Amino acid sequence: MADIYVFIGPPGVGKGTLGEMFCEETKAVHVSTGDLLRQEMAAGTELGNKVKGIIAEGGLVSDDIVAEMVEGRLQKDDIVAKGCLLDGFPRTVPQAEALRDILKRTGHKMAAVVSIEADQQMLITRLTARRMCTNKECGAIFNVVAMPPKTEGICDKCGAKLYQRSDDTKEAALHRLDVYAKQTAPLIDFYKKEGKLIRSTSRDLPAEANYANLKAALKA
Ligand code: ADP
Ligand code: ZN
Repeated sequence: MADIYVFIGPPGVGKGTLGEMFCEETKAVHVSTGDLLRQEMAAGTELGNKVKGIIAEGGLVSDDIVAEMVEGRLQKDDIVAKGCLLDGFPRTVPQAEALRDILKRTGHKMAAVVSIEADQQMLITRLTARRMCTNKECGAIFNVVAMPPKTEGICDKCGAKLYQRSDDTKEAALHRLDVYAKQTAPLIDFYKKEGKLIRSTSRDLPAEANYANLKAALKA
């Protein structure tokens, strides 16, 4: 029995970074379905191989696959003890319905759903400029325009190499934004009707400022 928070927002909005900050402060476990899927791909598991193509194109993995993966994760001891932040799930209305059933079965409680919103042009710029740390333990995220690393291609935090995600090319990024508008944006209404929705706008500001904004919205 633990508190579950959900962050929804378009790709590039800073959901992952804000999620890290939130979890550091609240000690909730950070569960990113994108990270879980990338771990499966890196490990070359059957699941990883199955989803590789669709992720590279910027499409969505099937609802059943992700729901099963999330249900398994929510039953682990760390989440039962500390609760978690779901980052990137649910992403479709069927996934939100699946989550409702998962919460019933696991006994967890939905604490709040935060919709993080931003200007479309800012999202495109940010996505194509994004670089990730190859060190999974580190997970730092840079931006070659707004937050470049001190040495090109190298992580400031741990010294590992940086890489660009295969779905952060302009073409794939535009497709992901389109998929978001069609498949994920309807969740905003879904959770508004359930009385769980909190909205927060992210601007072209340091992550700390956007985080302060999000926290204020959560407390209001
Ligand atoms: P972003 O939020 O930057 O788009 P994520 O790391 O959350 O990226 O997800 C990367 C990719 O993983 C998505 O484009 C999609 O293919 C897949 N994915 C992640 N979460 C889900 C989900 N809940 N349902 C379906 N596909 C997902
Ligand atoms: Zn690093």
